[in-house]
Amino acid sequence: MPRLVSHPDEVKIVSRRFGLGADHIDRYVELGGYESAKKCLAQGPDWIINEMKASNLRGRGGAGFPAGLKWSFVPKQSAKPKYVLVNGDESEPGTCKDHLIFLHDPHAVIEGTIIAGLAIGAKLGFIYLRGEYRYLLKIMEKAVADAYIKGFLGKNIFGSETEFQVITHSGAGAYEVGEESALMESLEGKRGVPRIRPPFPAVVGVYGGPTIINNAETIATVPHVIEMGAAAYAEVGSPRNGGTRLFCISGHVERPGVYELPMGYNLKKMIYDVAGGIRGGRGLKAVVPGGSSTPVLLPGEIDIGMDFDQVGKAGSMLGSGGVVVIDDQTCIVEFALRTISFYQHESCGWCIPCREGTDWLKKSLMRFHAGFGEAKDIDNIQYLAENMLGRTFCPLGDAAAMPMLGFVKKFRKEFEEHLNGKACPFAKHMEMAVI
Ligand code: SF4
Repeated sequence: MPRLVSHPDEVKIVSRRFGLGADHIDRYVELGGYESAKKCLAQGPDWIINEMKASNLRGRGGAGFPAGLKWSFVPKQSAKPKYVLVNGDESEPGTCKDHLIFLHDPHAVIEGTIIAGLAIGAKLGFIYLRGEYRYLLKIMEKAVADAYIKGFLGKNIFGSETEFQVITHSGAGAYEVGEESALMESLEGKRGVPRIRPPFPAVVGVYGGPTIINNAETIATVPHVIEMGAAAYAEVGSPRNGGTRLFCISGHVERPGVYELPMGYNLKKMIYDVAGGIRGGRGLKAVVPGGSSTPVLLPGEIDIGMDFDQVGKAGSMLGSGGVVVIDDQTCIVEFALRTISFYQHESCGWCIPCREGTDWLKKSLMRFHAGFGEAKDIDNIQYLAENMLGRTFCPLGDAAAMPMLGFVKKFRKEFEEHLNGKACPFAKHMEMAVI
């Protein structure tokens, strides 16, 4: 379970109620909760969407799409009911921020869902939690039940003529349903595989109705944006990247944890100052900046601001905010093997480049790591990954291929050190068992 940590550089917006008992509705209200929803009810949909656009809040699930713009795509008139779907299927290795939100501030998710519903004219919202978060589902279910008792959810929310209902839903434990169209399939009780797009969910979503789908952190941020005001929220971050982000710092650092820092915060400072530097005084070998699917950065590439644009310019992605720090005693071949093993296991098997590509990449890396690799295998790994990129039905194929390309291109020498029966040069230092 992620620890509650803190650092003076943190700007606590989304995490400001963590550890204060805000999972209890009375405490949440005491701390200013549900006032943003009431304000939005009075202001109306256009005002809400304009505020969200002005806040520069970008989706925290990984893609970084501007939330306000996404909401504006939902047609005002629709013959079918509209829906809000909160994506709490947090499964990207290295990421554990939504977990803390569900645990410490479940009403922020409910309040954000209400506001999103008011913005698009929906009467029903779904909060979807990953299967492994079954124990957090109980917390969410209690929070939803309490919100109904208080009259914050139901036929007449906050004593108004407006209806908004919330249903919680648990997945069955599949990384793939973090992809929004697979999430909808799963919610509807079908196998969690992606849908062909277009049409996009804003037009044809859950049960065929227009739907906005946002990550749980994005939705939990919404009440804070309304409370602070869009301009003040945008001001906290960097250009085009409003506010803060819950960065999950893990791996070989002295103080791992989830830290809320302004968008654009320097990655090097995040590792050496906020997280206390590399564990045991060792050197830094590499950093995965945004969850396991994002290409690795070398020590010379980490003096960058952590926002969607700056990390993109550095050749990687901000992704889900999972910063994985790798020390100089770690075998990159084994790290690559562990990463691809995850994607091979989670591939839904629908399209060939992903199903076969992840399997062959895993087999190649296993052979390599065991000391039976040949020089041509390094090129083969690169060839396999390159031929998966952009050729799969959903982003999981890219998510598996991109880190592999990064590892092979940036650590070719280390792959060569494993060639022709040579033992892994880092084997004696590795703290994890071989898969
Ligand atoms: Fe399934 Fe992988 Fe294809 Fe996505 S890319 S649809 S996970 S096989």
